[in-house]
Amino acid sequence: MNCLPLIEAKREGRTLSPEQIHAVVAGVVAETIPDYQLSALLMAIFFRGLDPVETRALTLAMRDSGDKLSFPSDPARPVVDKHSTGGIGDKVSLPLAPLLACLGFRVPMISGRSLGITGGTLDKLDSIPGYRSRLTREEIIQQVQDIGCVICGQTETMVPADRRLYSLRDASGTVPSISLITASILSKKLAEGIEALVLDVKFGTAAFMQTRDDARALAKSMTVIANEAGVKTRSLLTDMNRPLGRTAGNWLEVKESVECLEGRGPADLRELVIDCAAHLMVVTGKESELAAARAKAAAQLDSGAALQKWNEMLRAQGTDVAAFTDKLSRDHTAPAVLEVKAPRTGFVAKADARILGEVVRDLGGGRMTKEAAVDFDVGLDRLVAVSEPVKAGELLCRIHARTQAQAEGAVARVVSAFEFSDAPASAPPLVVEIL
Ligand code: URA
Repeated sequence: MNCLPLIEAKREGRTLSPEQIHAVVAGVVAETIPDYQLSALLMAIFFRGLDPVETRALTLAMRDSGDKLSFPSDPARPVVDKHSTGGIGDKVSLPLAPLLACLGFRVPMISGRSLGITGGTLDKLDSIPGYRSRLTREEIIQQVQDIGCVICGQTETMVPADRRLYSLRDASGTVPSISLITASILSKKLAEGIEALVLDVKFGTAAFMQTRDDARALAKSMTVIANEAGVKTRSLLTDMNRPLGRTAGNWLEVKESVECLEGRGPADLRELVIDCAAHLMVVTGKESELAAARAKAAAQLDSGAALQKWNEMLRAQGTDVAAFTDKLSRDHTAPAVLEVKAPRTGFVAKADARILGEVVRDLGGGRMTKEAAVDFDVGLDRLVAVSEPVKAGELLCRIHARTQAQAEGAVARVVSAFEFSDAPASAPPLVVEIL
């Protein structure tokens, strides 16, 4: 296919027709368009943008570029999922998938790996002994039908257009485009064959979208297109200026997720897990009121039902439960642990998620390139939260590292993430808007 006229049209700010966009996506998959032309087109899109009709055409063409999941109709068990645009300490998917299964949903949760400072659900799960995150399409469908939930990676044949386009965007500086992010995220979610979706769109220092306005624009773009594609969708705008929960780092976040499933753990994590579940219950008509939906979700966490479902999911995906239980019982699995102490007395006014995320990445817990390995055991735990009082010399957090020297080397940066005030400050709300 001759892509040049389309590159020129977009460069001049003209609109591409749905047919032209479908032809581009076909050329992406068949590899008949070379990388240099696709990169030029992506850059033209980055600067000129896509209008809603073009964005929808791109999303649907990408969704249809490979295999899709489909599930037998069962109105009592809607097929649903959640997606987060990613942040520090964001482990919501782990407790949420089994919780949703307990609430009568089917959840084919296809997740990704970490890149940069943003954590990835698959890396967290890969820290669990024996957990198999690569499943075939048939295995995914069977497990969802049998136990209600699966969390795994994308199969080789799902949404191949995104795989090629995303790596070109990564290499050509064209990732942060609302139209391209919308098409990339939604094509993968829509290919799961879901009926409803909750999107957690983050804003703040450690988020893709730094400002609330940009996050709202992304949320609006995704919510409108997903609803038009027949998936009942709601977006929550959530604060990612501070970490979620009290841990950041793959294995440490799994431990905290298990606490949440036991009805314990940090209040902000529990709030977001329950909120995501409650919005899905309301959009699918399982409940008419959010308050009642929240109460039902909380009861499933508190009763231990969601924890049982999590264990069922782990067993179905090959986990060595004895090794997992043993690992959970250990205080730490990284070779070195160091306590970071508060430099002064006061109230925590800021815990900068970007700085803390960079520390975790540089300890080995994140990756700079897609191919890099991650260290599952490093990270931060026992993080103090914004608004909490601390006395000079009390714990701000613990650093888990490969060596004592690496832990000591991270202390100054960890301390620099915190600001303190003399007067008590209330924590800003976590969920600030619903679309
Ligand atoms: N996550 C995705 O899957 N795609 C994007 O473009 C951005 C985040």
